[in-house]
Amino acid sequence: LFISFEGIDGSGKSTQARLLAERLRGAGRDVVLTREPGGSPGAEEIRALVLRGDPDRWSAETELLLFTAARRDHLERTIRPALDRGAIVICDRFADSTRMYQGLSRGNLRAAVDTLHALMIGVEPDLTLLIDMDPQAALARAKARATAEERFEDFGLPLQERMRAGFLALARDYPDRMRVIDGAHPLLSVAHDIDTTLAEHL
Ligand code: C5P
Repeated sequence: LFISFEGIDGSGKSTQARLLAERLRGAGRDVVLTREPGGSPGAEEIRALVLRGDPDRWSAETELLLFTAARRDHLERTIRPALDRGAIVICDRFADSTRMYQGLSRGNLRAAVDTLHALMIGVEPDLTLLIDMDPQAALARAKARATAEERFEDFGLPLQERMRAGFLALARDYPDRMRVIDGAHPLLSVAHDIDTTLAEHL
């Protein structure tokens, strides 16, 4: 079972991914909690290349190739082996983030994103939990947590709004696997909604 969490920065998806992993492990399941960009040694190296240092170092196209290379390595080294042995894989961001960030935020590369995905990745999660959140509240959270070490893109509210709308549109494009979770509720209430959604989906 392959589950991904998606949402704009500060939506709470990383916290919810971790909490879900803890609940499933508590229930005796073999769980691999992983994240993108990163999730394998090679992909973590690419993460550092992309997220540290000068944000203008790579063109939008090169950045897309780097993210795709990282995903391919993550898939080969971490996700596939875990799924093959029957583990539940919980991934904090996956290809939907690339559809949004590389596909939308620096021009329109969505066609290239989809072509590369079909050629080099070809896998979608069984279930994608989109943690939906008001951008203003999410931005405040993300800023409070941002480290100097990794780039934090202050996309600004207009772009965050576009990202939110883009993610919600994706959820309509992929109704079989994507579910929208209201991230504005308290932590445990969001966790409960996730459990309900997961149980319904299985
Ligand atoms: O989810 P996380 O906080 O680890 O993401 C780190 C940064 O990378 C965020 O600023 C996010 O917007 C950015 N990102 C990106 N393209 C992706 C995934 C994440 O620009 N495909």
